[in-house]
Order: sequence, then structure tokens, then C-alpha cells
Amino acid sequence: MTEGVTTPQGSTTSTDDLEAVLGALGTDPGRGLAPDVAARRLAEEGPNELRGAPPVPRWRAFLGQFQDPLIYLLLAAVVVATAAWWLEGRRGLPVDALVITVVLLLNALLGYSQEARAERAVAALQRLTEVRATVLRDGRALQVPAREVVRGDVLILAEGDSVAADARVVEAHALRVAEAALTGESTAVSKAPGSLPAGLPLGDRTDTVFKGTAVTQGTGRAVVVGTAMDTEMGRIAALLESTVREPTPLEREITFVGRFLGLAVVVIAAVVMATVWLVSGVSTAEDAVAVLLLGVSLAVAAVPEGLPAVLSVVLSIGVQQMARRDAIVKTLSSVETLGSASVICSDKTGTLTSNEMTVQEVLTASGRAHVSGVGYRPVGQVHLGAGEELPEEQRAEGVVLLSGGALSSNSELREENGEWSVLGDPTEAAFLVAERKMGLTERRERRFSRVGEAPFTSERKRMSTVQIDHEHDDQPVLVTKGAPDVVLERCTSYRVGMRTLPLDDDVRARVLQDVERLSGQALRTIGVAYRPLVDAAGTPVLDAAYLEGAVPAEVAEGLEDDLTWVGTVGMIDPAREEAGAAVREAHRAGVRVVMITGDHPATALRIAQDLGIAGPRSRAVSGVELDRLDEAGLREVVTEADVYARVAPEHKLRIVDALQSHGHVVAMTGDGVNDAPALKSADIGIAMGITGTEVTKEAGSMILRDDDFSTIVAAIRQGRVIFDNIKKFLRYLLSSNMGEVLTVFLGVLLAPVIGLDVASGGGVVLPLLATQILWINLVTDSGPALALGVDPETDDVMARPPRRPGERVIDGRMWVGVLAVGAMMAAVTLLTIDVFLPGGLVAGEDDLTVARTAGFTTLVLAQLFNVLNSRSQTSSAFRRIFTNRWLWASIALGVLLQVAVVHLPLLQRAFGTAALDLRHWTVCVVLASGVLWFDELVKVVERRLDRRRARAGAEAGGRG
Ligand code: ATP
Repeated sequence: MTEGVTTPQGSTTSTDDLEAVLGALGTDPGRGLAPDVAARRLAEEGPNELRGAPPVPRWRAFLGQFQDPLIYLLLAAVVVATAAWWLEGRRGLPVDALVITVVLLLNALLGYSQEARAERAVAALQRLTEVRATVLRDGRALQVPAREVVRGDVLILAEGDSVAADARVVEAHALRVAEAALTGESTAVSKAPGSLPAGLPLGDRTDTVFKGTAVTQGTGRAVVVGTAMDTEMGRIAALLESTVREPTPLEREITFVGRFLGLAVVVIAAVVMATVWLVSGVSTAEDAVAVLLLGVSLAVAAVPEGLPAVLSVVLSIGVQQMARRDAIVKTLSSVETLGSASVICSDKTGTLTSNEMTVQEVLTASGRAHVSGVGYRPVGQVHLGAGEELPEEQRAEGVVLLSGGALSSNSELREENGEWSVLGDPTEAAFLVAERKMGLTERRERRFSRVGEAPFTSERKRMSTVQIDHEHDDQPVLVTKGAPDVVLERCTSYRVGMRTLPLDDDVRARVLQDVERLSGQALRTIGVAYRPLVDAAGTPVLDAAYLEGAVPAEVAEGLEDDLTWVGTVGMIDPAREEAGAAVREAHRAGVRVVMITGDHPATALRIAQDLGIAGPRSRAVSGVELDRLDEAGLREVVTEADVYARVAPEHKLRIVDALQSHGHVVAMTGDGVNDAPALKSADIGIAMGITGTEVTKEAGSMILRDDDFSTIVAAIRQGRVIFDNIKKFLRYLLSSNMGEVLTVFLGVLLAPVIGLDVASGGGVVLPLLATQILWINLVTDSGPALALGVDPETDDVMARPPRRPGERVIDGRMWVGVLAVGAMMAAVTLLTIDVFLPGGLVAGEDDLTVARTAGFTTLVLAQLFNVLNSRSQTSSAFRRIFTNRWLWASIALGVLLQVAVVHLPLLQRAFGTAALDLRHWTVCVVLASGVLWFDELVKVVERRLDRRRARAGAEAGGRG
């Protein structure tokens, strides 16, 4: 076999004979590829990834920063300023034009670097959520990232796997694959090796598995014939070519606000320009240029240019923080959704509990026995209580029960340096530990060998193995363990000591009662039963061929009838340490917690009560009940029920839909392949990182790396904090811009009142220069806004109800605040100018340049004071004022830059400023701080109003 044989394009079709395909790919289905061959192919053929649109080159991304109508306005301003300089006789340098150009470049650079940073963060997250595949390399099964799968690799497929590439099936055991993603067909398709004729539609190609589909059942092996874009999925992706990130709802709202502001400002600018033109009378070319620049300044003043970049940086910092706390969010928009989650539907086992099972009770026909010892360390005894030995009969029953459980187990118990651990399902491992405590392991292992298995699924709630009993004429026997109610239904006799008696209704009822009692003590109950697979004459009822060691799963499943009941074990699965506190926190935050589990209703209810999920009078709704309910009935039930037990994955989907129909924002956890539809349907699908299958991880919008319920609550908390912070910097940026607009607008309108007209001798005067406004936006925009974006949480994040979905981020109340603070900023700025100019309300004696510099400085300082205001809509700026060091750093930097622009000759020339003395600075600081005091006052009123509203609400509630 030679390496490097290329198969023709379209190798994913079924036209080739299987043997021929294997030969061409140079692979051996029994051993897979050699690692070096795989590495070489990966290097030659590239990673197994669907290619979206090609990445945007850096220079294009940089130029993209200029693609904004507002920037076009500024570019027009450059032209206007250059024209003015030309008209005025080309004296010196065209300072205005140069300054605007430099500012534009800086702004673009800043925007570009922030966007690049956000993108890097998202890419890093994507690597964390990478899908993995199991492949055979040199005869050994290895887990590799799906992107490293190459042609010729042998995929090992198991339930819950996501198929990594198009591959020809070479081995299949009851292998079924859901291909809805590709064909739209919802029922799973059986796959088997073969060489089907050419031209079959996708859905009929049962000899091939396709990239992006999901294994729903069974196991198998398949040889990869096509990767990346050379797959059926790739063909669709090539048609769509859309891996562009969708803007989040929040980003859409911000874009809308930006557009709205842009439009508003064009109107305002036109009105102001017209007014100035008419009122002041434009006589010279210089005046005309000034008016044009005024329009441009207004436009620049009104729009927070840096907003989109700040937003994506803050979101991406947020998701990085979440990832550090084991909650990996796959899309930025999930952060917003998390903040408004109103119901968490959580699995029990492993999420609310620790999934460390220990058998504690052994219940058989002769009575109840206790097992001592905790954890996986097989040290302890089975006794009647107080160390009393078991009677003969009861011991015999216990032996069958625990060995039976151990026989139908796929787990492994391991000891390393005295530490015991398990590999596989903890429920099964618990049997191995208990059996070892009774000293039964060696004998059981000698006596039986396994020839078949009907696997456990969440729907079946049981599993069976077929064993050959070497101490009993090599007779085959079926051993079943599972949910006691489910197994008992399939029993016709029961075991007492060494005898088998018929199972009548009385015994059945007694067993169920006992199970109920164990479950009521929060124990997980598992029943065990068996069936000798021989007829009355002792001849095996199984095909001889099967007994060689390969009873197919379907055959084993068909034998799960007419069983002999042995008994039940009760296992403890302690609640996770932090789960109770997390439930309380969720409740405080107005988030309902609902438990959805496959476990026994009594067990589920008891644990739910212990954790505070359910009240003392709650009851558990069972899957059987759900089946009887129609959609309307279910809608009613979900308003009350906090615990669902003995449910199957398809119930989860119905529960999500019913909750959503009440307007709830639902977070739903899941691990098995059949949970995927519910995860997709939920507002936030949460896949388990440890126990979750690849398919659920793909379907979920968030992955819980530690499977821990409290991480969900922490993520909701984080989502809320991020959302709060976004509000903070929006409040800050918008009020700052409002301040600038009003300063320019009112300054021109009120020129005679504040003495601006005197200073100019009647011509057009601007309270601020366009370049100064640009400076303000550059100094005040990004730094403090970013610092607000990482502000620490406030005390009440988890003490208020979730945000209603669709609620505006910038609501009426925020707009009023923005307008009020903006008006105050304009007032103090214009007052400063008035104070220093001759004439006006207060008569000063400085010239226009100095007065304008002072006004400019007051506005900058007022915005820096406003950073403190913006941290909350209602609580005082002085509360926890020193908790954010970034905030203070950005304020300090702002002050430093302002000192520089006022006092450095180079910057003075560029920004039309003049040096201020101590008196000027003092007046600026004092007047600027007015914004802080003013907002403190507003907040006192806000708090009063809030209290009054709350009281009115409570009274109305009390009456109702
Ligand atoms: P969750 O809370 O995540 O739904 P669960 O383990 O309680 O977890 P399932 O895994 O669906 O839910 O299990 C349902 C029932 O099946 C359990 O209550 C138990 O009685 C039984 N069971 C669980 N695991 C096994 C197993 N490995 N073999 C046999 N029966 C099992």
C-alpha cells in the first residue's frame, strides 16, 4: 500500500467498491493509519474544517473602520478645512485638517485593535469547545480534535458521537445515525458496511456516515473518505459560505441607536447651521468655513464613535472570565440571554449531585441490610445493623443481587497508591464496590463470562448482559439491572434464599412499597433480576452461534421478559456541596430552578427538597403523567411543578416549549445524544463538559466544564454583571456626547447671553472647536468606557428579578438621565466660558482663546466626573468608590492628557488652546464637579421614587 494515493474528487459517493476504497486510501480497518502518515496527510491536505468566508486581510479590516457615514463627514471636514486654509492664503500648515486626519487615524487604530482583540478572544473560546473524534492510529484508539482527522483514518463511533468526516462504514453494531442536519429527515438511519450502487440519494447511502451527523445508537467503525470541504456538509457550506458572526440583539440595538443619533444629528446640525447663518450673517469665506465646521463638530460630538468596539471588547472579556470559571459560552449573544434567564432546568445526577454512588441498603425478599463504608474504597461490611451478621437466606439473596449488578456493569474499579477510583458509570461502579466488600469478586469473575449486552439508555432505564455460567453446565443466563419499577414489570417470579417463587400482586406491591421507602430517603434505587436462558429440559433457548460470544443487542433486548426478581439496592449520591447555596442564590435572583431527572420520583423529590428546589408539599411529576397531558395541560402543569422524574429526553423538549410559552427564558442542561433537541430549543442549551456527548456539546450554546449546577448560577450572575456594565458605559458615553452637542448648540444660540458675540465682534463663534470635540471624544470615550465595562458587580446583581427579554437596554429612564446630565455639562461649560469672557452674565477679562480653553477643560473634567456617576442609576457615586482601579487609572490619564493639551505648545497650536493659570484651573474643576453633585441630587430623587413605587406595588399586591 502506498501513501499519497489521491482518490478522485467526489470520493464520498458510494460508487467505489469498499475494498478498492481501502486500497486507495492506504489504510487497514483493523489498525488505522500510522501516526506519521496521518500527520503528513494533515500537513498536505489541511485541517478537517468547513471553510467559511475567507478571513479579512488586516489592511481591509483597518480600512473598514472608515466605512461609517460619520467618518465620511469627518473626511469632508478635512476637505473643508484644507479648502479654508487654501482660501486664506496658505499660511503655515493646515493645522485643522492635519489634526482631524491624525485623530481619525488614531480612532481607526483604536477601533481596529479593540475589534481584533475581541475576535482573538472568540477564537480562543472556539478552540475550547472543539469537537473531538476517536480514531484508530497504529491499532490504538485515540481521541483527537475533529479538525485533525484525515482521509484514511478509521473512526470509532459510539452513541453520542458527532461524525467527524464522511466515512465508509466497515463495521456496525446496531449503528444508527441522525442525519437531520444534512437531509432534514428526523428518524435515524441504520448504517452497515456495503458497496452501494452509484447515484443513490443521500438518505439511502447506508454504507456511509456523513460529517456533522450524530450517532444515536450502537457502535461501529468507518474509514474516512472525505474531509473538510470535500464532504457532503462541505458542499452545503460551500453553497452558503456563511460563517460570519451574527450580531447579538444588543449589538443590533446599539447599531440602531447609532443610526438614530446620526440621523438626529444631521437634522440638528442643519438647523443650527441655518440659524447661525441667518442670525450671525455670514460675510467672509472664513465665516462660511466656520459654519461648515460647526456642522461637522456637532456631528462628531453627537456620536460615540468608539461604542461598537468597546461593546465587543467588554462582551469578549466577559466570556473569557466565564471560561475561567468553567462556563464556556459559545456565542457572545448567550451572555445577554444568560442575564435574562428566568428558569434553569437541571439534570439531577452529576449536576446537582456529585455522581459518586455508594450502595448503602440492600433489600431482598428476606429483608433489609446495610452496607458500611463510604466512597469507592471497598472496605466495609454488609450487615443487619449494629454489625449483626446476615442470616443464611438473606446473605444468599444479597450475593445474587450484588453479583448480578456487577455482572451487568461496564465500569472498572481501580486502585493506585491506595486510592480507589472508577472508570465508567458510577452507578455501575457502586455494585463493584459493594460486591468487593462482600468478597464476591474473584469467584464471580471465574464463574461467568459475558457474551452479549443490551445497553442502558435513558429511555429504557435498564441494561442487561448475557452471561455463560461456567459452574452450571455453561448455561446462558440474562442478568438485568435498572430502575426497579421498570425491571419489576418484566418479572414473573422472585427469589427467596435459593428458591424461586411466583410473583403475585401482593409481593409486587410490597416490593414497590419498599422501593418507595428507600427512594424517600434520597437513595437512588436500582433493581436486579435474571433469567436462565434454558428450557425445562435445560437446553439453551439461544442460537448456538450466539453463544460463541456475540449476542446482538436486539436479541438480548428481546429476552428481557419473564425475569426473576432479586431485589433492590439503595445508593447514596450526595448533593454537591455548593448546590444548595446556588439554588438559594438563583431563587433570590428571581430564577426558578426545576429538576428534570430520569430517577425515581421519591428520590428526586427528596433531593429537590433537601436542596430547596421543592417545598415540603411539592410533588414530582412523572414521565407517565406527562405522556397523558396535552399541550394545554402541560402548560398549566409547568407553572407549578419543580420536579419531573422518570422522564425521557423527549419530555425535556416539551417542558422547554411549555415554559417558553409562558414567556420564560429557559436554560436547560443535557448530556445524552437525545437531549440535543431540547438543548437547541432552549434559550440557553447547557451541555455537560465531563459526562456530555460530543453531540450535546455541539447543540448547546454553553458548556459546563465541571458539570456543576453552581457554575450555571455563577454564569447567570456574570451575564448580569456584564449587562449592567454595558449599561454603565452606555450611560456614560451617551451623556458625554449629549453634553457636547448641547454645548455647541446652546453656545451658538445663547452667544449674546454668555458674551461669545462680544468676543468675536459679531461674526460666527463656536464655543468649542471641532478639533477640541474630537479630542474630547478620543480622551474620554474609550478609556473610561472600557473601565466601566469591567466594573465590579454591585450588591444587588442577584437580588433583582431577571431582565425581561426584549427589554430595551437604553430605556426611557436612561434617556432622561442622559439628557439631564448632558444639559448640566453644557451649562457648566458655557458658564465657564462666560466667567472668563468680558460681557455676558459674569464679566471676565480673558480673550476668546483662553475662555474657550477653559470651557473645553471644564467639559473634559465634567465628563471625567461623570464616569463616577455612570456606575449606577440610583446609588451614590461615593458608594464603593475605590473598587475599580481601572476607572481611576483612566481618569488620571484623562487629566494628564488635558494638562498636556492645555500647556504643551505643539498641542496648543494643534487644538487652538492657550495656557491656563491656577485660577482658571480651579474654576474649571469646581464648575465641572457640578455634574457630580447634580447627579447625586437626581439619584436621591430617583431612590425616593423607587421606594414609593415599591411601596405602592406592595400595597397593591397586599390588597390583591
Ligand atoms: P439525570 O438526573 O441526569 O436524568 P439519572 O441517572 O437519574 O440522571 P437516567 O440516567 O435517565 O437518569 O437514569 C434513569 C434510571 O435508570 C435511574 O434512576 C436508574 O434507576 C436507572 N439506571 C441508571 N443508570 C443505570 C445503569 N447504568 N444501569 C441500569 N440502570 C440504570
